[in-house]
Amino acid sequence: MSYSNDYRKKILGIDVDLVSKEKALERFYEIMDKPGFDMIVTPNSEIIENATRDAELAQLISEAALIIPDGIGLVYASKILKYDLQERVTGIDFLTEILGYLEKTGKSIFLFGSKPENEEMKSVAELAGISMKEKFPNLNIAGTHHGYFKPEDEADIVKAINESGADFLCVALGSPKQEKFMKAHRDEFINVRAGIGVGGSLDVWAGTVKRAPEFYQKHGLEWLYRFVKQPSRWKRMLRLPVFMMKVLTSKK
Ligand code: UDP
Repeated sequence: MSYSNDYRKKILGIDVDLVSKEKALERFYEIMDKPGFDMIVTPNSEIIENATRDAELAQLISEAALIIPDGIGLVYASKILKYDLQERVTGIDFLTEILGYLEKTGKSIFLFGSKPENEEMKSVAELAGISMKEKFPNLNIAGTHHGYFKPEDEADIVKAINESGADFLCVALGSPKQEKFMKAHRDEFINVRAGIGVGGSLDVWAGTVKRAPEFYQKHGLEWLYRFVKQPSRWKRMLRLPVFMMKVLTSKK
């Protein structure tokens, strides 16, 4: 099933919801109030560009109940295409809003993804849960599972999510793995109302990866901060100008 909204537009032929944080939250509350499992995706320009070459990813993005514009590239693209998108809504900020809602409404979350435990450290998902509870003391964390599994483990992971009784699922496997996991199992979730793909957000909550300081966030320069911190990501950085060129060309 594909959703259509007046705020759902196409960038490079891929669906994106041009929503403010408030509008995205309104939609999120609706999703949580209705039965069945819905997918929430948080594409940035890199994911949109990947989707132009991955028909399965493009299709499942269009099937998401909410497609949050996560990234400054989508704000620039909207300016070029004369769409009305004033701000990006980052997956990590949106997740924080979701945690506040879940705490207030007494609903629970399952944290799935990121590195497993080792001798020195609990799993990233467990550490993220601990730090979420510091900020949201009444948050109900129904369970956690790391994100390094074999395809044959998936059925057990879905079972664990269902048995935890979680109302909401946070999937941090990176893209497109997290989106494909949600799509593959969407009909198997019993109680879970929705899931969101959040990339590296559990690492940030766990403190294993630092988020860019506010200055960089405010000026849409998180990519620059990441580049300085993790120069090995330079190839990924080059994808923003490539994306912008494609959007400019698509307009002509
Ligand atoms: N990850 C995972 N399983 C995998 C591959 C990645 O759980 O098979 C996790 C990884 O540990 C990290 C997240 O997925 O926490 C991906 O982070 P990244 O910053 O690459 O995501 P992005 O938001 O850039 O897509």
